[in-house]
Amino acid sequence: MAYTTLYRKFRPKTFEEIVGQEAIVKTLKNQIIADRVGHAYLLSGGRGTGKTSVAKILARAVNCLNPKNGEPCNECEICKAALNGSLTDIVEMDAASNNSVEDIRSIKEEVNFLPTLAKYRVYIIDEVHMLSTGAFNALLKTLEEPPEHVKFILATTEPQKLPTTILSRCQRFDFKKISEENIVKRLKIICNESKIDITEKALFVIAVLSEGAVRDALSILERCIQDGVEHIDEDKVKELVGIPKITYINKALKAILECNIEEVLNVTKEMIDDGKDISNILWEMIKYTKDILIYKTSNKLDLYSKDELNEIKQRAEEASKERLLSIIYDLSEIENNIKWSTQKTIMFQTGMIKLCINPNNEDISNIIKRVENIENQLKGKKINLDDSNSKNYAPNSKKNVDNYVDNIKTEKPKTANNKVIDSENFWPKVVDNLKKSGKIMLYTNLLKTNAKKINDLIVEIEFPNRNDTIW
Ligand SMILES: [Zn+2]
Repeated sequence: MAYTTLYRKFRPKTFEEIVGQEAIVKTLKNQIIADRVGHAYLLSGGRGTGKTSVAKILARAVNCLNPKNGEPCNECEICKAALNGSLTDIVEMDAASNNSVEDIRSIKEEVNFLPTLAKYRVYIIDEVHMLSTGAFNALLKTLEEPPEHVKFILATTEPQKLPTTILSRCQRFDFKKISEENIVKRLKIICNESKIDITEKALFVIAVLSEGAVRDALSILERCIQDGVEHIDEDKVKELVGIPKITYINKALKAILECNIEEVLNVTKEMIDDGKDISNILWEMIKYTKDILIYKTSNKLDLYSKDELNEIKQRAEEASKERLLSIIYDLSEIENNIKWSTQKTIMFQTGMIKLCINPNNEDISNIIKRVENIENQLKGKKINLDDSNSKNYAPNSKKNVDNYVDNIKTEKPKTANNKVIDSENFWPKVVDNLKKSGKIMLYTNLLKTNAKKINDLIVEIEFPNRNDTIW
């Protein structure tokens, strides 16, 4: 079975089936119901977030002979022809391979003719940022004054590469990454209908790996099926994508807690020799240590087997909260350091050794230093110690631990200085400077905005008459 089969087979056919883009779907349906569909749309967002699916549904909905509540019926003559690809009035073009001026010129000539069957001739141009400059210019003229019977739906993963002249002529919709919960939901439906036997934990692992892209999630699922396995579990998924098994991660953590340098180097070497990526190993170690910490504070953990939980329990008994926090912190640091290094393995191994010889005293002194910092900040009158800070340093529940981990992963040196800046005069200068320095995209987006608050750490921007959708 080819990967595209699953993806194509389960491509959403109605707006209702699109997951995680509620605001966009609602606006489009309302426009169709009110018969106020624009002549050019730009759908932007990451891979697999639903842009092409929405484009196809929209193209059918505007042409459907019997639309229901803004949705295409998918049953009339037009919908059926569109679905089986025989409707010549809906033209799909991939700008990655058709990016020349000639390609766009042929569209320019075509648009003058009336559609053959449908009400509108709809052009869906995917990866539109790949068009050449000449092609953009040619497209621009058509976008400016399109005939009544023509609609354009442009899709791109990189809107920042589009000329502002194109951006300003389109209604723009920004597609969000899809949440893990929504991806699991969608995968469950697909697995049920396709009779794929898969565990809940495996679905969750796929959702995390897909990073908000349904297409990637389905690609991983498809690879699992292709391997000919009847029952897919977490280990199967991990094996396939090169993530080390939990037993190895546990062994490594056990060795670190026992300060057994030889053992930690052996276990990690085994994982690397087995083809596991160092970043994946580190990420799994961070996650696992975080879970031990959660178990230590709440005595509860989902998604682990009984044997795995026993191991986690033992690790939780062996290590103090401070030690676990310090390991998470150090692992994140190793992860950051190796990102740009050409000597990843050496950096990784050195990091592992350091984790083993890191005496507890040092961990505590680090934490004391941090607490002292907060105290000093509190003494300065203008500083607020808000919730996120207190969570950062006193993780005592699952949510707080998660916050702690998130915080240390993005932690940057902060100079807390709430000096108040005259935002009314300062902000327009900032925006104007963007124009001068050629950052036109940013400039157009920030035009007519007000800065409500500016200090060294925060800029609060107010967009006039805008909600989720940027027009
Ligand atoms: Zn229809």
